This record gives sequence, C-alpha cells and structure tokens, in this order.
Amino acid sequence: MSYETRKKVLVLGLARSGQAALHLLACKGLDSRGADDSELVTLSEELKEIEIFKGDHQPEELLDGVGEIVISPGITENHPVIKEASGMNIPVIGELELAFRFAEAPVIAVTGTNGKSTTVSMIGEILKEDGRDVIVAGNTGTPFSSVVMKLGPKGIFVIEVSSFQLETIKEFHPVSAGILNLTPDHLDRYENVEDYYRMKERILENSGIGDLYFYNADDPLCVSIAEDYRGRLAPFSSRKAVEGGVFLDSDRIVRSVDGNREEIIIEKNDLGVIGLHNIENAMAAIASLQGENVSRDACNRALRSFRGLRHRMEKIAESGGVTYYNDSKATNVEAAVKSLTGLPRPVVLIAGGYDKGSDYSKFREVLSGIRMIVTIGKAAVLIENALKGMVEIKKADSMEDAVRKASDAALDGDFVILSPACASFDMFSDFENRGDVFRDCVLNLGRNNR
Ligand code: ADP
Repeated sequence: MSYETRKKVLVLGLARSGQAALHLLACKGLDSRGADDSELVTLSEELKEIEIFKGDHQPEELLDGVGEIVISPGITENHPVIKEASGMNIPVIGELELAFRFAEAPVIAVTGTNGKSTTVSMIGEILKEDGRDVIVAGNTGTPFSSVVMKLGPKGIFVIEVSSFQLETIKEFHPVSAGILNLTPDHLDRYENVEDYYRMKERILENSGIGDLYFYNADDPLCVSIAEDYRGRLAPFSSRKAVEGGVFLDSDRIVRSVDGNREEIIIEKNDLGVIGLHNIENAMAAIASLQGENVSRDACNRALRSFRGLRHRMEKIAESGGVTYYNDSKATNVEAAVKSLTGLPRPVVLIAGGYDKGSDYSKFREVLSGIRMIVTIGKAAVLIENALKGMVEIKKADSMEDAVRKASDAALDGDFVILSPACASFDMFSDFENRGDVFRDCVLNLGRNNR
C-alpha cells in the first residue's frame, strides 16, 4: 500500500483512534496536525511535538496547506470544519481507511448490529490456535492504526467495523467480510434505517471475485446482500443446512469442506459460551475463515476455551453445582431476552436497575426457562408489575443481597445470571462497575460457603 502526500494531514477528533492516527502518520514521517473541539482533551506524550488546535473556535489557518482530513467516527459531515473542507475539495477519510493503507497483512472484517466484538475475538482465538500471527483490533477496542505496523504480510488482521467507520472508507478491502445481523439502530445518526443498512453494506464495496462474504443466512437483509455478491459466499445458519458455510445440525456445529463434505466442528454444549446468539457468533467466526484453510481442531479448541468477553454472558464461577454468568452489558430488555433464549438449564435471573422506559413484559418470551427473578434497583417494581403471578419474584436491596437470594434459590445444575435489562446508574457508575460488583459478590459467596 503506498501513501503519498506532500501536503499536511489534519486529524480531527483526538480521542483514542485520532491519537493513534496521528502517531501512525508521525511514524511514517508524514506531516500532520490535530484538532479537537474540546479544550479538555489530553494527548499522549509521544504526540507532544505535533501541532494541535483545541476548542470549538478553530483558527482560520486550520485548513492551510491541508491535503487530506482524517476524522474520528463521532464526527459527521455537519461538522463546520468538514463543511468548509468540502467547499475546498479536501478529501475526508476515517481512521480505518488510513490504517488500511499501511496494512501489509490481509484483513478479515466484521460488522453487524450485534455480536461484533464477540465474533472478532472468537476469530482471533481460532487463528491463534491454528498457529497464525493474528491481531484483533477495530471499533471498540484497539484502534487499527495503533497496531497496523506490527504485522508483516504473513500475518492476518481481524477488524471490528462500525457503520460510522464505513461512512469514510474509500479503498478499504478485506479479503473476508461479514455482516452478522441487521436490525434498526443509530437512528439518532441516520435519517432512516435504510441509510444505516446501506452503510453496513459498504464493507463489501471493494470486494472482488476472490473475496469472501460471510453472512447470517437467517437474516433476510444479509441474504439479499448475498444475492448481488460476485465473490465467494459463506453463509451461516442456526435453522437450516446451508451450502459452502456453517450450520447447526441438531446439536452440532458443522462446516462444509471442499464443497461436498461436511465436517463436525463442535457440539454446541461444548462451546465455552452459552446462548443462541453466541452459537451464531461461533458459526460466523468459523464461516469467516472458509477461505483460510484453518484446521477443524483449531476451531474446536478455540471455541471450547473461549469464555466470552467481559460482562457479556461471561462465565464467572461454578459453585455448589450452580454456574454464575455476568451479562451486565445487557442494558435493555431486548438484549437480555436474546441472552436468555435457548439456554440448556433453568435460570435464576437477577434483573433491574435504572429504567429506560422498557417494556418488561417482553421477558414473557423466556419465562419458561426462568426459575425465579431477583430484582434490584429502581426498575424492581416495574418488573414485578409486568410479570406478577407468572414467575416467582423476590426483591433485593443490594447486589450482595441479590446474589445471596439467587444462590439460595438455585438448584443443582442451574444457572444464576445477571442480565439486568436496565441501565446501571441508580446503583453503579456504569455497566462494567455493576458486572465487577456482581463478580465480587459471587466469588465471596464461594469463600463464605467454605
Ligand atoms: P457489539 O460489539 O456488536 O456491540 P458484543 O459482542 O459486544 O456486540 O455483544 C453485545 C450484546 O449484544 C451482548 O451482550 C448480547 O446481549 C447481544 N448479542 C451478541 N451477539 C449477538 C447476536 N449474534 N445477535 C443478537 N444479539 C447479540
């Protein structure tokens, strides 16, 4: 990939990805400057030589000599600097595009409304087990720019990509690109849901005949995108057998090999993670590698040992025959219901917190698998009202009390799951803090029982 400009590059937005972009440009000896609307932004030590403008009244000379602008995902075309740049025909790209220009290793890219972080982590673990030199980066984790120089052509990048990042690509060209699912989201940013879907589809914009599209064959929107795709297809499905991809054959995940053979990868109950959505993520991860000749054993070992990302149905402990999971990231009812769908064991659920106007009657969809609900926080009474008479409900005063009550109610073999369906602000600083407190309470429980 070559990158030539004798003009300055302006990096607009200096949070994590913006700073990584500036650092990459500096490492490549390219002339750059940075700007951020906030006076409060703090820069890493290694950027102290670079010219930086802070505050929302940017000086007139900000765009002087600038040949290209790199923006953070949070900045839109309505930003005054971008409007001015557009009048001056200065091209605008995102940090993802910038990093890609310097990538020597091929890229596997994952987008979709839900499950991206989990899936890229699973792909990374499989490739590691297969002995490949792999780096996982992108949207919510490590910026691509901060790692792009760390891999030579024999390595492989696995990149999580958001719709915001896809707004500003030009030549971004993964060898394997996937869409996990498409449901309405980010309607505060896009005029309508079609615009959001179109942005997601841009992940395939530069794909050619030799590239792979892996997609959810149970999602009609992902399927319709496949219909126009010219390269190789790797569908995944939890409902039916699919050609060339990965599917659930009763309780086993199988993949197609050489176009005519099927190979069992893993029993779904041997996965290190639980829940139908995580089975889909595991199938997506295997499908993303249909062009990579990855061994069946590498897939099996990696997916057995991958225990989930923190706060997303993360296995915390097994104690007294009961297994405890932290799903604190489920901050709305839809996410909690998805997490609780298709679980193999009865659940004692801990739910509640700061209410965002949710309809808790949606829990009815999964009540047959729930032994009892322990409620916490301000939404406790709302949950109780929505489900009164349908399931046993107990109210707890604190997380410690909730874990104790859940543990007392759980029978041998049950799951105890914190999947709150609410925000955390009434009792905790954020969902991570809530998950950490839950973890501590569970681990203390084990100690107190000894
Ligand atoms: P993302 O990176 O797209 O936000 P994560 O892997 O962080 O996704 O998962 C966030 C939440 O989304 C999970 O806690 C779970 O509730 C839900 N989720 C994960 N995977 C899926 C999926 N394949 N389909 C629907 N929901 C999912």
